Amino acid sequence: MSEAQEKMTRPIPPPAVSIETKPFWDAAAEGRFLIGRCNACGKAYWYPRAICPHCFSGDTVLEESPGEGVVYTYSVLRRSPTGPYAIGYVTLNEGPSVLTNFVDVTPDGLAIGLKVKVRFQPTEGGPPVPVFAPA
Ligand SMILES: [Zn+2]
Repeated sequence: MSEAQEKMTRPIPPPAVSIETKPFWDAAAEGRFLIGRCNACGKAYWYPRAICPHCFSGDTVLEESPGEGVVYTYSVLRRSPTGPYAIGYVTLNEGPSVLTNFVDVTPDGLAIGLKVKVRFQPTEGGPPVPVFAPA
């Protein structure tokens, strides 16, 4: 099997968890993907935070998302100490875009518009992080 046909993955360092992001990471540990939702303007946003990035309201909640969307753009890094990997943006069905790692896909298997779904990848000493794979 040539390098170009191997499915990509890579070690991901544990995320920094703060008081503001702890509920997100606690849900991630249970395999649930949360996004932000504003009660004032109704818009969804990523990443989750206390203040709405659209209207600056503090009336916001965390909402569970199925984590489904499409690849908006991506970049394959073919040479790295741990092998090829890809990062890019996923546009969630709810609207926001998420910067993420793509896994379980070959470098040539990625495409703009490809349907993808979230999954959680373990980290060493921290909560699992959301990554995306073909749906
Ligand atoms: Zn808002």
